Amino acid sequence: MTRLCRFNEDRLGIVEGDQVLDVTEALGVIPEVRWPYPVNDALIANLDAVLGQVERLRANARTYALAEIVLKSPVANPPKVIAAPVNYLKHQAEANADGGKNFDMDVKTIDYYGLFLKSGSSVVGVGEGVVMPFPDRRTDHEIELVVVIGKGGRNIPIDRAREHIAGYALGLDITLRGPEDRSLRKSCDSFSVIGPWLVTADEVSDPNALDLTLEVNGEPRQSANTRDLIFNVDKLIEYASTFYELMPGDVIFTGTPEGVGPILPGDKITCGVEGIAQATVMVR
Ligand code: MN
Repeated sequence: MTRLCRFNEDRLGIVEGDQVLDVTEALGVIPEVRWPYPVNDALIANLDAVLGQVERLRANARTYALAEIVLKSPVANPPKVIAAPVNYLKHQAEANADGGKNFDMDVKTIDYYGLFLKSGSSVVGVGEGVVMPFPDRRTDHEIELVVVIGKGGRNIPIDRAREHIAGYALGLDITLRGPEDRSLRKSCDSFSVIGPWLVTADEVSDPNALDLTLEVNGEPRQSANTRDLIFNVDKLIEYASTFYELMPGDVIFTGTPEGVGPILPGDKITCGVEGIAQATVMVR
């Protein structure tokens, strides 16, 4: 049962209630590597060894209040930021009622589009917040469950998908609306919020049955459950791994349910994924 966070200047922490135990010293077990670096996230690739050290360190760890630290993405260097387009039917319906009309699109679902990739440089933690590069263009929130790949692999069968999951996090797939390709509109700096921490896979018995919620300035916007995913977590892993090798630290944004809406600089997003966390993310 572990909630692992990255905070301040690349400190490693364990979250317990509203406290964070500083276990940065556990990173010492990560082997030194030289160029060319392996295509993975070093923390996730060595997660078991790091967690072993954490057990040794936690008793004497320095503690911080969660409120006094800045939370970064628990996965610092995801090799791939994979994302699922239109993976909830009710979101397809609202997209067609709204954006589809504006941009002359007939919005289909993940069965048709497959997956897309977001830039690695778009990844931030909840404490860093979202910066809108084009405040005059509509920019939307999308609450999503994020899956973090632990053990890599190709052609992973659906019934073995869970063996490849290191853990879960909450995600915001921030989206500039418009006619450009998804991979561009969703890849601006700070548009992939991941956090507030990594919940290890053993803590989540069924990722396909988690409530998702999101409010903007206290106004409810999104409220749904991952049981309505068109491609559920297991299917996403199977499907993705038929196209490319999954690597330790790859993250999968699993798609957003209905209720997406605009954000503006100054907004306060409060969001949650059941069993993972509640988080507050500021928009600038
Ligand atoms: Mn999305």
